[in-house]
Amino acid sequence: MDEERNVQPDRGTRRKKKYKILWDRVIIALAALIVLIVGIVMLISALVGAIKGARSKDDSSSAVKANASAVSSQQDTPESAEPVDNSLFTVVIDAGHGGEDVGSTDFDGVRYEKEDCLRVAKLVEKYLKSMNVNVIMTRTEDVYVTLDDRCKIANDSNAVIFVSLHRNYYDGEAQGVEVWVHNERPENDTALAQNILDALKEVGVSQDRGVNFGYRGNEYVNYQVNRETNMPSCLVELGFMQDEQDNKLFDDNCDAYAKAIAEAIYKTAKERELVKNLS
Ligand SMILES: [Zn+2]
Repeated sequence: MDEERNVQPDRGTRRKKKYKILWDRVIIALAALIVLIVGIVMLISALVGAIKGARSKDDSSSAVKANASAVSSQQDTPESAEPVDNSLFTVVIDAGHGGEDVGSTDFDGVRYEKEDCLRVAKLVEKYLKSMNVNVIMTRTEDVYVTLDDRCKIANDSNAVIFVSLHRNYYDGEAQGVEVWVHNERPENDTALAQNILDALKEVGVSQDRGVNFGYRGNEYVNYQVNRETNMPSCLVELGFMQDEQDNKLFDDNCDAYAKAIAEAIYKTAKERELVKNLS
């Protein structure tokens, strides 16, 4: 028994010693683990912050930027966290038709004007943005937007130019590009239309159908988007949906047409001094 007693505490201390060493290691391991976890959490939160920052930049398009001037006037503090709107000026791009309103179609009824309008409008938006121009789109997807709403979007913005993009319809043989302006022939609107037409001709069109005033078939009335928008505006007809050559020209040159329209818009804003000190 004595021997056992002598032995037992000894075992106990040995065990204790063993445990002590283990706990030390566990504590060190835990400390290392905590440091590692804290590091990972910090890294993830930094990454999420960076991604969120990039997204909020993307989202600061159209509507947000449209209100940018109103917002900035409300925030007089220079240390405002709101992103600064550095765009030179604002333009409204109106992709014609949309949703249940398909616009005109080709003779087979498989090609819809609304799709061509949106396709070229998005490219115009891209090119204008690359020139540091703020762009407000009346639609960015296949949805129906009333003409009233299109005009309201334009008039609620601080846009200096409004351009409506369409493709033409004629139940017979007709081809070429034409641009429509209000029948009072406002100088800035007419200059805008002529600049766009000239730029499109540079790219290549089947026929120059000119700058026209009023409404097709009736010069005493106007397209609503020209009549009810408060800024220089025009309506562009990018070739006839029923003409094979015009459709091919549109498909081959869609990107170049869009670039030409964007450059013509910028040129007009500068030439007509719609924006001060534009270089
Ligand atoms: Zn149309």
